[in-house]
Amino acid sequence: MTTPSQHEIDTLFSEKEIAQRVETLAGEISNDMSNELLVVVILKGSFVFAADLIRAMDRAGMAPRVEFMTLSSYGKAMKSSGRVELTRDVTEDVGGREVLIVDDILESGRTLAFACDLMAARGASTVKTCLLLDKHEKREVGIEADFVGFRIGDKFVVGYGLDLAHMFRGLPYIGVVRQN
Ligand code: 5GP
Ligand code: MG
Repeated sequence: MTTPSQHEIDTLFSEKEIAQRVETLAGEISNDMSNELLVVVILKGSFVFAADLIRAMDRAGMAPRVEFMTLSSYGKAMKSSGRVELTRDVTEDVGGREVLIVDDILESGRTLAFACDLMAARGASTVKTCLLLDKHEKREVGIEADFVGFRIGDKFVVGYGLDLAHMFRGLPYIGVVRQN
């Protein structure tokens, strides 16, 4: 079994850098979307980001409603399986709603494309996306996020909600697992 002590983590974005960027993102969203939007959080990786983002949105004068959806494409591996599965659905009707999908990382683009297509198929009036991290060079599906926290290279990151085999979600910063 892998344990946290067997890994070394190098900080990529500190708590302070993340907090500043989240505040700016909320400002960008409030300039672009209506105050009563529906935030759809893709679990599990984005729960910490979403918790900070919706409070920053409140400070920016917005009053978002929040729903959760669990999509999985990774399992325990560090490489995507290429298939996206819906394992937990939203409970509200998204028909006619202005939806902001919040997710952790945009990599191949499959997860986000799946979520966007689903919201559009259910009749959302607008579907926009806010991603904490964008691994631009790894894209396989033609999709871009409307709001991006940070662009990163091809590194496996953990912390701030992101896991490696269920570990490290509670780290307050975003870090890179050192490959030994
Ligand atoms: P995509 O469908 O865009 O290829 O994959 C995006 C999903 O893969 C993310 O939502 C995230 O769950 C997972 N993922 C991609 N890269 C990383 C990474 O560096 N670290 C972690 N923990 N998850 C990742
Ligand atoms: Mg994810």
